[in-house]
Amino acid sequence: MKIGILALQGAFIEHKHSLDALGVESFEIRQKKDIEKPFDGLIIPGGESTVIGKLLHKLDLYEPIKNMIENGMPVFGTCAGLIILAKNIEDEQAHIGTMDITVRRNAYGKQIDSFSEEVVIPEVSDKPFPLVFIRAPWIDSVGDSVKVLCELNGHIVAARENNMLVTSFHPELTKNLDFHKYFINMIKQKKSR
Ligand code: GLN
Repeated sequence: MKIGILALQGAFIEHKHSLDALGVESFEIRQKKDIEKPFDGLIIPGGESTVIGKLLHKLDLYEPIKNMIENGMPVFGTCAGLIILAKNIEDEQAHIGTMDITVRRNAYGKQIDSFSEEVVIPEVSDKPFPLVFIRAPWIDSVGDSVKVLCELNGHIVAARENNMLVTSFHPELTKNLDFHKYFINMIKQKKSR
């Protein structure tokens, strides 16, 4: 199994560390030629969604990556990565826009712009998972085919729609590997079909 990590901007190296810890091979996607060889899953990291969105177009990565996701490539978007995948963003234009969710950027505002919590996310693990939020978005609403994985104080912060997994928080900034394991299982399931 080989996972590509979009490495245009933001916290991509931390995802590599999580995958390394699980013994899963990964590589960085910086330009079009990096996605010419086959791979099994894609991670879109946290960072600044406006910057990542612009670079996707500038580097001609937008179309091929959107096509891959639409054709079933398992993808995991964290924070800005969630925003990049959202079909609707409050008051803004969508980027890749493949996932049927409506997102509010910087939803937690300036006062609590970064915080952490521990919650059990039954779909992922029966042990509490540490949620680290950094200028995080939340999901305002989801379409019928989207499964909500985690809500915090009435706001959706993790969800899945078929091959797409998103979190408002940053599993890669914690030592807990359960979310990455969950994503790897999504890839394994797809490969075995
Ligand atoms: N606030 C950023 C954005 O809107 C996301 C922050 C993050 O990825 N940690 O893109």
